[in-house]
Amino acid sequence: MTLTNRTKVVSNKQMTFVESLYLPAIFAGMWITIKHVFRKKITIKYPEQKREIADIYRGQHILKRDEQGRERCTACGLCALACPAEAITMIAAERIAGEEKLYREEKYAKVYEINMLRCIYCGLCESACPKEAIFLTQKIVDAEYTREAFIYGKDKLVEPIDMDKRIDVSKRQTDKVLKFKQLKHERHNI
Ligand code: SF4
Ligand code: SF4
Repeated sequence: MTLTNRTKVVSNKQMTFVESLYLPAIFAGMWITIKHVFRKKITIKYPEQKREIADIYRGQHILKRDEQGRERCTACGLCALACPAEAITMIAAERIAGEEKLYREEKYAKVYEINMLRCIYCGLCESACPKEAIFLTQKIVDAEYTREAFIYGKDKLVEPIDMDKRIDVSKRQTDKVLKFKQLKHERHNI
């Protein structure tokens, strides 16, 4: 059964003397290569050079702190539930007296891990989070030598407490999302 109309009849004709030298074919191939040397390069010397990427590029995740430096994540597990790659795991713990300045809610993620090898950077965890605690960023996940090194814990995910080093995620909030959050009866981030 014919699958396509593309057929090529194989010729059994004898090569001429010039063809049997292969030189014309070699020079034709080299001419194609030489032409490409002078064309504009489409590759860049990464990591020295980096391409411009979109403000809402979906790269490495960050766990946000609030204005007072407290971790926003309340270990509700919605991000893990939404994750199609099952890349997120966490262990919840109860905030004890004296930890109010560390954690925003009474429950927090004692352990929070993302397996960057499993992650497909779909952003569903960001969309699912009711506390605006997890965002993807423009940072590209570093290359590593072992599989274990790609499991990112809180040490790599939680943003710095220093206000100057905080990650600005305001550009990830579309007008539609911002309008939604202005509806008091609909607000999810309280
Ligand atoms: S970006 Fe997608 S795949 Fe990656 S952790 Fe979030 S939900 Fe899972
Ligand atoms: S990051 Fe958001 S969705 Fe995930 S556990 Fe924390 S609060 Fe819940």
